[in-house]
Amino acid sequence: MITFDNVSKKYENDQVAVNAINLEIKKGEFFVIIGPSGCGKTTLLKMINRLIQLTEGTIRINEKRISDYNIHELRWNIGYVLQQIALFPHMTIEENIAIVPELKKWRLPHIQQRVRELLAMVGLDPDKYSQRKPKELSGGEQQRVGVVRALAADPEIVLMDEPFSALDPISRTKLQDDLLELQRAIQKTIVFVSHDMQEALKLGDRICVMKDGEIVQIGTPQEIIQNP
Ligand code: ADP
Ligand code: ADP
Repeated sequence: MITFDNVSKKYENDQVAVNAINLEIKKGEFFVIIGPSGCGKTTLLKMINRLIQLTEGTIRINEKRISDYNIHELRWNIGYVLQQIALFPHMTIEENIAIVPELKKWRLPHIQQRVRELLAMVGLDPDKYSQRKPKELSGGEQQRVGVVRALAADPEIVLMDEPFSALDPISRTKLQDDLLELQRAIQKTIVFVSHDMQEALKLGDRICVMKDGEIVQIGTPQEIIQNP
């Protein structure tokens, strides 16, 4: 479903962040990219939704080159969750989640229904939370809203860049568990960046280990453990 064909990224300062990557991520797969700081994880991730341009090679989604997609079509169909969730402070939780569905011109009752469903799925009572402002939520709750917002318009793919790393260990474990359950229920293709091997082993169907812009190992958690 997502294929990388000889993909490289060289920044203006000649820093080669990603070097000749070949990769195939399957539909419905929970795919974790792991490696030390600066190895190119975020660059690899952001090339998928064209937040970063490739210098060389081709990325395809469902066989179509990402450069051939309309940029809005591409961004709206790829959910994106960052480490620092950027909820709009002046908007309610419901309004924050509704951004992309509204851009897609979904009808209001449909949007409201969707928001309620999603909040409930991540353990946030819609009656209690949908009309609150982000600052009235804890960090962990805001992160849940970040996950829900990325899923709101039913994207095929969700990109997650260390989404839980700013959380305390307890909230973090809880969110990981909930995300796994959610993934089983909705079967999205998830590409998840982490620097934490425990997290990668827990979440990933497959794990891709990067070093200096290259993939040094790729396999199931079982394979990674047996062959460290
Ligand atoms: P990771 O996500 O694994 O920490 P990044 O993809 O952020 O790694 O960065 C990979 C390499 O590219 C690093 O050496 C980083 O310093 C460099 N880099 C990242 N963004 C830029 C940029 N905008 N300009 C120049 N170099 C960058
Ligand atoms: P840049 O100016 O860096 O190219 P954009 O202005 O396209 O980035 O996007 C800024 C931020 O807004 C990005 O970090 C991205 O996560 C978010 N974003 C952009 N488009 C969408 C979208 N359709 N759905 C969700 N988030 C989006």
